[in-house]
Amino acid sequence: MKRVYLAADLADAQIALDWLNMRGIRAHVFNTHATGGLGELAATQIWPEVWVEDDEDAEQAIQLLKEIHAAEDAGSKRCPQCGEENPGNFLSCWHCGQALA
Ligand SMILES: [Zn+2]
Repeated sequence: MKRVYLAADLADAQIALDWLNMRGIRAHVFNTHATGGLGELAATQIWPEVWVEDDEDAEQAIQLLKEIHAAEDAGSKRCPQCGEENPGNFLSCWHCGQALA
């Protein structure tokens, strides 16, 4: 197991995880739940981490995650069917499944 990514939030971690899984890299997200007890860290102080199962996948995973952020920088797309905003690298709407141009 090797950590390849420190996500800003859970949605970010989930996108990274899906991105890797789609490309055949087995990965997991950790630190997704705050323990919530008194004196424990608040949820906002725990950033989800993405880990690859196989250490040999780590380098490729990091490259793939750079691509995801390059795609995000390209901006977002608005769904022509339901009007939801989608990350620029999405091929179909997360909300209704409409193919995005
Ligand atoms: Zn839509």
